[in-house]
Amino acid sequence: MLRGTFQLMKSVNKTSILNKIRLAEPISRAQISKETGITAPTVSAIVKELIKEDLVEESVLGKSKGGRKPTLLLLKRDGHFVIGVDAGSNSIRVVATNLVGDVLYHRHQAVSKGISQNDYLVELSRVIKWVLDDLSERQDKVLGIGVAMHGVVRIASGEALYASSTGFRHLPIKAFLEELFPYPVIVENNSRAMTFGEYWFGNFDDAKTLIGISIGRGVGSGIIINGRLRHGAQDIAGEVGHMVVDYQGIKCSCGNYGCWETLITGDAIVRQVIKMGWSEPDITPEKVYQAALDRDPLAIKALASVGRMIGIGIVNLIHIINPDQILLGGGVMNSQEFLMPEIRKVISERALTEKSRLENHIVLSQLKEKATVLGAAAIVLKDLF
Ligand SMILES: [Zn+2]
Repeated sequence: MLRGTFQLMKSVNKTSILNKIRLAEPISRAQISKETGITAPTVSAIVKELIKEDLVEESVLGKSKGGRKPTLLLLKRDGHFVIGVDAGSNSIRVVATNLVGDVLYHRHQAVSKGISQNDYLVELSRVIKWVLDDLSERQDKVLGIGVAMHGVVRIASGEALYASSTGFRHLPIKAFLEELFPYPVIVENNSRAMTFGEYWFGNFDDAKTLIGISIGRGVGSGIIINGRLRHGAQDIAGEVGHMVVDYQGIKCSCGNYGCWETLITGDAIVRQVIKMGWSEPDITPEKVYQAALDRDPLAIKALASVGRMIGIGIVNLIHIINPDQILLGGGVMNSQEFLMPEIRKVISERALTEKSRLENHIVLSQLKEKATVLGAAAIVLKDLF
């Protein structure tokens, strides 16, 4: 079965020319040659191939004083498409994007509680099918499907090994979807995908080492070093939610005690505010945030305390990875105005050196709730570029 156009992109020169165009467009052939060190005839030959493959197109924007106008090259935005899937425990989101991440179609489906593994796979394929139908004849130009899955993912086999929120084990996502659709399928952990989406589409080109931390119902992260996501020896690199910060703490969904996740998620916010004296029924993290906005002192105190715990974990991560940038996302960060001052304070008190105390770059997710699904699309694009 034909699996997209990845096979076309084997040459190193071709990859670097395509990337040069992506990052520096509009750009002339001469400029590409100058900046990549690839000879002019080779650039011309490869650009010809790229144009033929609908990856690059010529524009007429170039200006010159007299003589011939230089022809500038652009990425052919709608030459190809990718499918991004955010496979969450509560909902499935699927988008079709073009080569620069513009979302053409978006479908969304709630997932019922207690769904079986097989029904979940069927649901995934159903929502993907809707988006492919939306693309209609352009589905011939789809390069691949990227799936951002909650829980631990085995990258090589595209299998979800374990997801604590749904209890899924050994879910063969890649095998199932590749059986149904004629495209390559790449499966990645959702927090890694979120981080990669921000890196690829956001303003992170210069970040040599980036850690993205997603704090919501659970806690996950993605670590990017020199432009590449790190997975580790057993695919659990970045499982920072299960970093133990209080060995005498409460039991975590993973079975350990005092994991970072038990102290900073939405549930942790609720536990904290109850501990501080709230007694009303049906407390949610959203209610706590709303109360904090209304200047409820206990709500503000509870969020500040969670902010401190977020800061403690980040200090640990600074000491292990020392990233150029730290990106924070996920639902809990919606309360950022109450959390960030405490996070910054803890880092300024506890990071090891003066430079690391003062010069840590913490930024908030720009793509917000779309980061994960766009990250899933970006993971497919990354294989092309
Ligand atoms: Zn844990």
